[in-house]
Amino acid sequence: MTDVGNASAVRSLDAVTVRVRAANPSPLHLSGTNTYVIGDPTTGEALVVDPGPDLPDHRATIEATMADLGVHVAAVVITHHHLDHSEAVGWAGLWGAVAYAFDPSRVPGARPLADRATLPLAGVAVTARHLPGHCSDQMGLQIEETGVVLTGDHVLGEGTTFLAWPDGDLGQYLASLQELKAMRPTALYPGHGEVVEQPAQRIDDLAAHRAQRTAQITAALAVGAQTVPEIVAQVYPGLDPHLRSAAGRSVSAHLTALEAQGMARRTGERWHGA
Ligand SMILES: [Zn+2]
Repeated sequence: MTDVGNASAVRSLDAVTVRVRAANPSPLHLSGTNTYVIGDPTTGEALVVDPGPDLPDHRATIEATMADLGVHVAAVVITHHHLDHSEAVGWAGLWGAVAYAFDPSRVPGARPLADRATLPLAGVAVTARHLPGHCSDQMGLQIEETGVVLTGDHVLGEGTTFLAWPDGDLGQYLASLQELKAMRPTALYPGHGEVVEQPAQRIDDLAAHRAQRTAQITAALAVGAQTVPEIVAQVYPGLDPHLRSAAGRSVSAHLTALEAQGMARRTGERWHGA
């Protein structure tokens, strides 16, 4: 895990994108939440994607970044409702900007942003895409000028995202991976971690990883693991205890998918291979 210390970290990623990383590192959040400031400085308008956790230092760094670029916030997009991305949605109001999210009922104060909608931003064309799986309201944003896709937590900079079952769903996640691949991204800018420079390869690896997990869970059922914690213990040996709950939700997502395919059945809290 990368340690960014106490202050937000700023990095320019391309001609229209600056990343401001919040100081909320954890096993689940990797080195912290990535906030992205996107805009063409010649137009003076910027889009802020995932303001992140409500940390005063983080807000100050985002505002200083915009001042450096000579831009003001025209819109804020929340990629999904999880608090490490959405908690600071209220900053949009302070900045005189509108906040958008796929499901405003889960992001207070946001307006709806539909699949394939474009954002009103001068100088940079941004298209939203619904990419459910990590959770049901996960969105990605493609920057037409660069071909880059901001993935939120659909794809991370390292490791695999967890499936926040029952809101998260394995079938949706796998379909969203193919959806993302079909967007032909030139790079992925994730909600946590570093830039993914080889998107197609990474997407194939993530799909293969899920197939491997399904095989491991099927094998765990075959040798007598029955409850989700028992399956987690078999499939994730040596797991950081902080990640146990997330792993359990991913396992539940896999079990639910296996059940739908007639390959597992459930009795109360106990699961059995079919
Ligand atoms: Zn996150």
